[in-house]
Amino acid sequence: MNQTLSPHIEIMRHSVAHLLAAAVLKMFPEAKFGIGPVIGNGFYYDFDLPRTLIPEDLEILEKIMRELIQKNYSYDRAELPIKTALKKFEELNQPYKAEIIRDLKQKGEEMVSVYETGFFVDLCTGPHIDSTGEIPSNGFKLEKISGAYWKGDQSKAQLQRIYGVAFETSAELQAYLKQQEEAEQRDHRKIGADQELFAFSPEIGSGLVLWLPKGNIIKEELENWAKETEQMQGYMRVTTPIITKENLFYTSEHLPHYASSMYAPINIDGEKYYIKPMNCPFHHEIFKHRARSYRELPLRIAEYGWCHRYEDSGSLFGLMRVRGMQMNDAHIYCTREQAIEEFVNVIKLHEYYYKKLGITEYYMELALRNPENKKYHGDDAMWQEAEDLTRKAMEISGVPYVIQNDGAAFYGPKIDFQIKSITGRIFTASTNQIDLFMPKKFNLTYKNSNGKEDYVVCIHRAPLGTHERFIGFLIEHFAGAFPVWLSPTQVTLLPISEKFFDYADKVMKALQSSGIRTEMSAENESLGKRIREAEKQKVPYMLVVGEKEMKSNTVSVRSRGSKQQETIDFEKFIKFIERKIFEKQ
Ligand code: ZN
Repeated sequence: MNQTLSPHIEIMRHSVAHLLAAAVLKMFPEAKFGIGPVIGNGFYYDFDLPRTLIPEDLEILEKIMRELIQKNYSYDRAELPIKTALKKFEELNQPYKAEIIRDLKQKGEEMVSVYETGFFVDLCTGPHIDSTGEIPSNGFKLEKISGAYWKGDQSKAQLQRIYGVAFETSAELQAYLKQQEEAEQRDHRKIGADQELFAFSPEIGSGLVLWLPKGNIIKEELENWAKETEQMQGYMRVTTPIITKENLFYTSEHLPHYASSMYAPINIDGEKYYIKPMNCPFHHEIFKHRARSYRELPLRIAEYGWCHRYEDSGSLFGLMRVRGMQMNDAHIYCTREQAIEEFVNVIKLHEYYYKKLGITEYYMELALRNPENKKYHGDDAMWQEAEDLTRKAMEISGVPYVIQNDGAAFYGPKIDFQIKSITGRIFTASTNQIDLFMPKKFNLTYKNSNGKEDYVVCIHRAPLGTHERFIGFLIEHFAGAFPVWLSPTQVTLLPISEKFFDYADKVMKALQSSGIRTEMSAENESLGKRIREAEKQKVPYMLVVGEKEMKSNTVSVRSRGSKQQETIDFEKFIKFIERKIFEKQ
């Protein structure tokens, strides 16, 4: 037992979970207990209760927990023969704990440990703190209630789960709660609704995004940026269908074992067609539609491909986890000698995008295979070579990385770019790979300079990930205050009164004909109210026009986040904003 290896904070969090269970028992003497592990900054505990909990219950439970801290109950450990333990929990009328003990018995365990805290007994391996008095009274908080199935199995009993967080000090808890509040303000689902960027409809289905006009502007700006950048780097664009005969995915070996992540096939003319979950095999088919020579390599094939994946409905989350996604995808077909340089360029391309967008904290995660795990295909030599090439490119790039000894794709190691948001959350932004497996499966060859056929190396890359996840990240990153070039509305015009509508309209038309996304705010509301509305929409520039502006052919500019107003020549303002947009600011 690695008891000494658990950091103190985790031991404390687990002890607070027991304290919660004790409080629940005090409130509901007939409560039955599931499990209560430590997660993230806290813990949860599952209960079978005589009634559904309401949010107010959490405050009552916190109060009871503080009383139990005062009592300073010790956490007493005892080792029991498994039979004795089973009898004990059966007598306590704890069927879930008894089931766990029976499972342990089947696995051949002979002894189990239990912890007693005052009137509460739990089956637990520990370790724990010495007594409840060590828990800081103002260092924990019960956060929310949700439903959970026993053993995560939908056919089993539905329990109620209480989540809590716990810290060593009240100051740490307060800092955490403040960060949570900030994260809520930046929640992409909330901002997406406030600014009308995207929506979902139950008529269409879960995880299928409806991009509204304003969100679609962001999507297209990003896409155009990627297209321009890739064109300059020698990528060629293609378009491929979203469905394919099933055999393509048998060749790639995604079928049968990836089938649970794909939509069910459609029968067309007696053949099975699948909606594509990735673009790779389509690009492979483009590569091999004719013979290739070494002179054509590297061949870079790009597509903002439409992919659909079956994600479990419980895991869908706003734009972050969806079922339909458009990916900034490309495949680079090259020789072994070219692979490292090409992959370094892919890593650098990520950095170029991140720098422009002000994403300063990022690292790569190299996921290798666990040789014990049967899910991985291909031979050892191939895995080793792919890993060596990948590592070399990562070293040259200078971007920091960590290693995961599992979690590779089934056909080779992969690197995930992890980016950190302002609120400290880590997002996987893109996945990239040097692939030696698929070229063999798809027979992707070229004639080398000696006139011999050789397999290409395939690099999978998607620096901007999917529109869905990347824009979800950007919404939180910018808290909805997008840089000018990405802002759905770049300028809002505010005529002081009806008298100046004509001049405002003239200004708006001139801006629009320069390609600047402009809206007029001319409702029958006070100027102050209209300014507040434009501020809420996080529009970068507000132009106030009245008598003075009309006479001098000027506009009074109010920048986002500033209360100052500056009157400038109207033509000058157009030049100024055009420059900003051009420089992607
Ligand atoms: Zn791919």
